[in-house]
Amino acid sequence: MADVESFRNHVLEAGVLDPEGTHHEFVSGMHGRKLDFDKIAIGSPLYEEWTTVAADYISEEYSELPQIILGVANGTNRVAIDTARHFNGDVIGAVSEKDPENSKKLYLSEMAGKLITAMQPELVVVLEDVGTTGSNSVQVARHALAAGAQEVEVVLTWQRQSKLQKLLDSGIAYRAIINEPLPTYDPEECENVGYCADGWGFIPRAK
Ligand SMILES: [Zn+2]
Repeated sequence: MADVESFRNHVLEAGVLDPEGTHHEFVSGMHGRKLDFDKIAIGSPLYEEWTTVAADYISEEYSELPQIILGVANGTNRVAIDTARHFNGDVIGAVSEKDPENSKKLYLSEMAGKLITAMQPELVVVLEDVGTTGSNSVQVARHALAAGAQEVEVVLTWQRQSKLQKLLDSGIAYRAIINEPLPTYDPEECENVGYCADGWGFIPRAK
């Protein structure tokens, strides 16, 4: 059985979280220590641990397994497929895509859309890496509902805010493998009481 606590420690050891003394500007404009799961190389031991922990979590949390696990482009597309493989054919992994014109917009892949429409699955799980507001996973979840999924829930690898407002606003249920809020400030707050106030290095978002 995979151990969430040791997975969390391995994630920190791999430098997925910004080291002390450094923080980032997020897409939302907020400031905080970034969690970058893209640092976990596909096929690495930590990647295998991630898919094992996610599969164990899903089988423990849901009395009826989801028929489909959907990835959130691009970060968890492979993870969703490799997590689904742990269920030996009982669960299908599928992927979403970013709009090439606007990377903030996500769609289902054509295959995922057709699959959901054909199966009308009772439950689809959207697997996300980091939950801050839920702005990406909510799009994938809503497209899955529109395509014919009867119920869609989001499973986050690391929930970094106590509430994920975009998911709450859309009435999409979510749960997290690691639920550990991390300080996240708007720029003014950060300047007054946050990391900027403490003189931590600041990395603006790449435009
Ligand atoms: Zn700051």
